[in-house]
Amino acid sequence: MAVKPKVTNGSTTLGPAANEKDAEKLRFIEEMTMNTDAVQERVLAEILSRNAETEYLKRYKLDGATDRETFKAKLPVVTYEDLQPDIQRIANGDRSPILSSHPISEFLTSSGTSAGERKLMPTIREELDRRQLLYSLLTPVMNLYVPGLDKGKGLYFLFIKSESKTPSGLPARPVLTSYYKSEHFKSRPYDPFNVYTSPNEAILCTDSFQSMYAQMLCGLLQRLDVLRVGAVFASGLLRAIRFLQLNWEQLAADISSGTLTKQITDPAIREAVTQQLRPDPELARFITKECSKGDWACIITRIWPNTKYLDVIVTGAMAQYIPTLEYYSGGLPMACTMYASSECYFGLNLRPMCSPSEVSYTIMPMMGYFEFIPLDADGTMCNGAQTQLVDLAHVEVGKEYELVITTYSGLNRYRVGDILRVTGFHNCAPQFQFIRRKNVLLSIESDKTDEAELQKAVTNASELIKSYNATVVEYTSHASTKSIPGHYVIYWELLIKKDKTKNGKSGTIPTELLDECCLEMEESLNTVYRQSRVADCSIGPLEIRVVRPGTFEELMDYAISRGASINQYKVPRCVNFPPILELLDSRVVSTHFSPGLPKWTPTRSN
Ligand code: AMP
Repeated sequence: MAVKPKVTNGSTTLGPAANEKDAEKLRFIEEMTMNTDAVQERVLAEILSRNAETEYLKRYKLDGATDRETFKAKLPVVTYEDLQPDIQRIANGDRSPILSSHPISEFLTSSGTSAGERKLMPTIREELDRRQLLYSLLTPVMNLYVPGLDKGKGLYFLFIKSESKTPSGLPARPVLTSYYKSEHFKSRPYDPFNVYTSPNEAILCTDSFQSMYAQMLCGLLQRLDVLRVGAVFASGLLRAIRFLQLNWEQLAADISSGTLTKQITDPAIREAVTQQLRPDPELARFITKECSKGDWACIITRIWPNTKYLDVIVTGAMAQYIPTLEYYSGGLPMACTMYASSECYFGLNLRPMCSPSEVSYTIMPMMGYFEFIPLDADGTMCNGAQTQLVDLAHVEVGKEYELVITTYSGLNRYRVGDILRVTGFHNCAPQFQFIRRKNVLLSIESDKTDEAELQKAVTNASELIKSYNATVVEYTSHASTKSIPGHYVIYWELLIKKDKTKNGKSGTIPTELLDECCLEMEESLNTVYRQSRVADCSIGPLEIRVVRPGTFEELMDYAISRGASINQYKVPRCVNFPPILELLDSRVVSTHFSPGLPKWTPTRSN
């Protein structure tokens, strides 16, 4: 890496840094992005040489080679399902170097699922440092655009989830749970530009009510200090607003009396919050005045008037929440700062204050080795694409690609499932717009339901109405986020044969049975969906809307009138286009909601 970026007096092409510490970080970004290809070559050589003795690389006869050509010629591009047998061995306690020469320290449970369970991503201890490195770049970039963040605090709603252990005793937990529980986060050095209102004790409590209550209470107590309000994803911030709507009276009562409600039983939280809580009837009156109006427009800026921006990801599946967040925040900018996954943290947005539609993430070349499967204009793989992957530095502006990664933790040429479009370059590093996740039909928060899962759920539920001589002839779906939490809406068109069934039931299906069908669908959906329903309460009860016979034919007529080919027409299994939703809704004959909660336990079934 011979070329050094020209940087003088803390000024880079990104702009003049706010302080010397930031200048160093910005110089690092410049160095990485100016030398993208060289850094990638080094990263690959590092990964391959340290893992040369692993069973995986030996299986493909890499013979210690560390160059790109041999790597690309010998190693296949794989999916999770291909790696699952190896991953299962590690989970079961095989400590030999299967994927990584470094010991696997834990499994990160991805929100992507395989056979209904979260994917288990093996990781190694040093990956925490790499994630920390990416986090450390966010504030220096933000400081370029928003001055004065050291004059106040961030109200961030951050949560951990329950964790389990694999048969061999390794923890299995989401990547953010792992990060928040690490010393990197818990013992982070004081940084005036990055002070949170939430005490660690509140973030680190698995009881989501107690955690949220304490974080909201501390945010209210320090409301004038708050300069930014955030959560990881937009759905999380909206849950916080909903929480305020439901709990402001108790929060105001606690503030007025200076005592913490008995509902908070976690001793660590009680101690941390009690240190801040003093009777403040004036603040309690203010909160009561603002929250009792029943008008929630601009609630964020009314309660936290010094907020300069929202720090939440609103790209990808989260884009559906932009209008609601605009409503609650009076149109504050929404900063999408980074792009990451359980498998690997990828990169950051170098213009975080841009509008959500313009967000592009710069993949940082030191985070892993990145390749790209080129896609045709219609989003399908180009001919020969599987064999001709493009390197990070060589992707082309305007084209779409599927991301393939090779990580320090032992994933080799692994398909993440994300589709990205190149929008430009920062120095030699491409910038990507997140287009979509492959095969995801429905998503409210971290849940990702694909077409096959939805099909299975409909099939299982329709068993319940068989005895009424009824079948689901067509269906489609929609992730409804009109109310918080959002929920899945499934439109069903039924065919009920008039003749009596063998057991003598007539053709009218009792409404309770259709309610049961909603629950049966939920039981059939994957573990992330069920966890969100049961433990996090971040998805509302599933709804079935029965539409009158002939509705799906009308849907086809509509599509054909807009240019679809009759021969190739397929019922869309998910609809978002407002005129189609209006058409469906105008044909609804009955609506049904899940009457209970599906089964979910933190333990895995495989
Ligand atoms: P998980 O493995 O559960 O952490 O989920 C990671 C996935 O979340 C990524 O592969 C993306 O599909 C999605 N994701 C992460 N960051 C972003 C972002 N900034 N914008 C859109 N989608 C994102």
